[in-house]
Order: sequence, then structure tokens, then C-alpha cells
Amino acid sequence: MNIDLDKILETGAQLADSAKKTATDLAQKGKKQVDLMNAQTRLSKAQRQLGALVYSLEKNGEKNDLLVKKYVDAISAIEEEIETLKKQESQGQSTYTYTYTAPAQEPGKKTCPQCGAEVDEDALFCSCCGAQL
Ligand SMILES: [Zn+2]
Repeated sequence: MNIDLDKILETGAQLADSAKKTATDLAQKGKKQVDLMNAQTRLSKAQRQLGALVYSLEKNGEKNDLLVKKYVDAISAIEEEIETLKKQESQGQSTYTYTYTAPAQEPGKKTCPQCGAEVDEDALFCSCCGAQL
């Protein structure tokens, strides 16, 4: 029996190529999942921060429309990002179901580099001077 070695090598190379392609596809799909998870985490953090901000403003009878607007803008930007990621994902034929629950941990504190005020670690903007964090 005459074995065509070239043919075998060629087939092997093709198989390796398609395996590599599948791995790359999976990696890209995985990255999109991570992006989506990150965006959803950022969204819930920003929403929580906005809630806390509005609450403390109302409670103290204060107004800070600029800061509230900054949060609303940031939140709609993240929402758009999530929409885009979801669209990209539904274009693929992936049938995986996505479940993610945000970690229920208390946010820590950090210091605003602009004015030195103590702000929540999750805060997107300083509640004191409005600087982007
Ligand atoms: Zn500040």
C-alpha cells in the first residue's frame, strides 16, 4: 500500500489550523462574556452610586444636578455598551445561557485625588468636587 505522506501531512496541518481557529473563536467569545460581565458590574455599581447620591442629596435637602447628570450619562454609556456587546453575541451561534450575580460586598472607601474627600470605592465621580475618579 502506497501511503501518500504529503497528503497526510497536509490533512494534519488543516486539522491543526481548524483547531486553532476554534480555539481563537472560543477565546474571543469568552472575552466578550468577560466584557459583558464587567460592563454589567460597572452598571450596577454606577446605579448604586447614583441611588446613594440622590438619597443623600434629598435627605440633606441639597441639589447637585451636575453630579446627578454625570452619573446618568455614565450609566447610559454603559447601557449602550452592554447593548452592543449583547448584539455582537447574539450574532454568533452560541447558545450558552449567561447568569451572573454581582458580588454582594460592601464597597470600600477611597480618597478623591482632586480634593481629598473620602468617597466610595465604587464612585465614578467625587461627591464633593465632582471630579471623575
Ligand atoms: Zn473631590
